[in-house]
Amino acid sequence: MSPLLSVRDLKVSFDTEDGVVAAVSGVSYDVEAGKTLGIVGESGSGKTVGTLTIMGLTRAVNTKISGEALFDGKDLLTSSEQQMRSIRGDEIAMIFQDPLSSLHPFFTIGAQLVEAIQVHRNVSKAAARDRAAELLGMVGLSDPRSRLSSYPHEFSGGMRQRVMIAMALANDPRLLIADEPTTALDVTVQAQILELIADLQRQTGTAMIIITHDLGVVAEVADEIAVMYAGRIVEQASAADLFANPQHPYTRGLLASIPRLDRDRSIGLDPIAGRPPSMISPPGGCAFHPRCPRAFDRCSEELPQLEAVAGSSNHRVACLLEPAERSRKA
Ligand code: SF4
Repeated sequence: MSPLLSVRDLKVSFDTEDGVVAAVSGVSYDVEAGKTLGIVGESGSGKTVGTLTIMGLTRAVNTKISGEALFDGKDLLTSSEQQMRSIRGDEIAMIFQDPLSSLHPFFTIGAQLVEAIQVHRNVSKAAARDRAAELLGMVGLSDPRSRLSSYPHEFSGGMRQRVMIAMALANDPRLLIADEPTTALDVTVQAQILELIADLQRQTGTAMIIITHDLGVVAEVADEIAVMYAGRIVEQASAADLFANPQHPYTRGLLASIPRLDRDRSIGLDPIAGRPPSMISPPGGCAFHPRCPRAFDRCSEELPQLEAVAGSSNHRVACLLEPAERSRKA
């Protein structure tokens, strides 16, 4: 069966006053119907720009885009703005990071949900309101019909994110893109929202891309994980394989920096040294080499390609270390 979304060699760059920002440099991945892909990386890794580009939201005179993003066989990168408007919010929907700035403060939750439904469906206002109440119930808000008359400021951050999830699901999208859906929320609410997203995805069969800087977030919900660094995928595997057998020093660094309840509290977290590179003038060779504890002489000269890991059907890594060396602890 062909994937619902197939991205091939996606490149995105922006001309700026300071130079060309190469935000995404040849990214490829597939998302199967009903499955979840986690895209993980630090700020500036290109994870959000890549998906915004697929949604047609980075088109501008100073942007260069190439590659292919086949959604159900149709290339989203060459679709007209009008075609993209009908796909966005209908076949592909997005949940953004900050629900407060995504909801309009002057309109009730009900009015915003009804509008989201009526933009894509030829239904009466009463039917759209019924659907809006049904959606608020689905995302776990009590007394959903009366909630329709509330304004965003009357809701907590977690409740607002539930509304955003309801809005994203309003038209039964086939692909849901969740960009850091829990970053703006309290830790206690984060787990509830992740559980809700995973539950709804199981119920609706929607495919999902979840974008995050936190490997812990995708641990429970993703089937596949792509780790991005400096605009490229540096490791890609099933979630089980990635956590059991991480190969790339960056992935290992991300895993070591996740707080764990079973870790001795007297031992601090192990952060990745340094900062993500500037994408105007990224380091030559492997872009991770200035921060990599395993870097050796070839790393500053050769660009590692994403290659299959021996013994695993879909595990790939871009690192110049010999396979036996990659599994060794630094
Ligand atoms: Fe580290 Fe070199 Fe591998 Fe890059 S190629 S991750 S610098 S060891």
